[in-house]
Amino acid sequence: MEDKTPRVALVTGGSRGIGRATVLALAHDGYDVAFCYRSDDEAARVLAKEAAETGARVLARRTDVTDAESVRSLVAEVENELGPVDAAVTAAGITRDNPLVLMDDDQWHQVLDTNLDGVYHLCRAVVFGMMKRRHGAIVNVSSVAGVYGHASQTNYAASKAGIIAFSRSLAKEVGRSGIRVNTVAPGFIATDMTAVLNDKARKEALSAIPLRRMGEAEEVADLIAYLVSDRASYITGSVLQIDGGITI
Ligand code: NAP
Repeated sequence: MEDKTPRVALVTGGSRGIGRATVLALAHDGYDVAFCYRSDDEAARVLAKEAAETGARVLARRTDVTDAESVRSLVAEVENELGPVDAAVTAAGITRDNPLVLMDDDQWHQVLDTNLDGVYHLCRAVVFGMMKRRHGAIVNVSSVAGVYGHASQTNYAASKAGIIAFSRSLAKEVGRSGIRVNTVAPGFIATDMTAVLNDKARKEALSAIPLRRMGEAEEVADLIAYLVSDRASYITGSVLQIDGGITI
């Protein structure tokens, strides 16, 4: 008989943008969903309420992904309250753009600590349980900057390239344990992260995108929801670009 027990998903950076849309997509797909965020309690509260309206059990926790111990505690709490994590999505990410000649050590380390160490912390905390259960799907959010590079983003691009290499390596390690690990690499997506772009940068970006628009967080969330689902049962180690064609 088909197992109807709701699966459990955990999303980092769930309070806003792509993470937020992913929380809602997974709740609509029947998952019980936990998410963490860094500071925006009000955004998290509103989202938790909206996600719970689907009937999902929802757990929202303020947890800084740069802190390994906090992430371990988060995973323990989620597994205790909702059950074993079947799907893990790392959407927490920041930018601190500057040309390298002007970059300071804080800008470098904050971006690497959040974007790359954050992925390591979450994957490290969930992977053993997934291996024991011989089941699990992980999607890490990279960026086209991690594939092709982007001026003024040496820190960000390095973190996002690291995520791709990390995810492919992990996919090779844990495939035999029934765990799939994939990466999505979005282009320009309309979220708070890109709302800071000035008009000139926005115009330049739009003219380089064959589809002539920025992507929506929901479009990325749909791809993530597909990748964690059994519909993607033979996809692992892939890097799926979702970028309106900007990299063609
Ligand atoms: P966003 O709207 O700025 O949201 C970022 C989310 O990450 C927020 O929920 C934020 O929590 C959380 N966060 C940041 N630092 C954190 C930390 N140390 N611990 C826990 N949570 C933290 O960003 P977005 O545009 O949705 O981006 C989501 C992911 O997609 C990022 O990894 C980003 O690099 C990637 N991406 C975005 C684009 C794009 O065009 N938007 C393109 C390519 C890749 P608070 O709200 O509490 O601060």
